[in-house]
Amino acid sequence: MTLHPLRAEVIGDELALVWSDGKESYIALEKLRRACPCAACGGEPDVLGHVERPHVSYGPHSFELRSFCFVGGYALKPTWNDGHDTGLYTFRQLRALNENAAT
Ligand SMILES: [Zn+2]
Repeated sequence: MTLHPLRAEVIGDELALVWSDGKESYIALEKLRRACPCAACGGEPDVLGHVERPHVSYGPHSFELRSFCFVGGYALKPTWNDGHDTGLYTFRQLRALNENAAT
């Protein structure tokens, strides 16, 4: 069985996740937003594999999470208060975001 969150909720300015292996993650919403993997935020690789990260401007509501849902059994899809909702964070990415924070 693949690793997946059993529970997720926003606590203060963090997204708290409880994983199927019993671990917990706390990911700052600002960090989560800045890691948005959608093409508009993260950039798409060109034919040579270079990724040029586009300039992304954030507004006062960009780091506020309006809502989120799980899609396809593999990803979390947040809707931000500035209306941005095209980022799909795979569970693997979410888990990595937290583990990077710990180091
Ligand atoms: Zn995005």
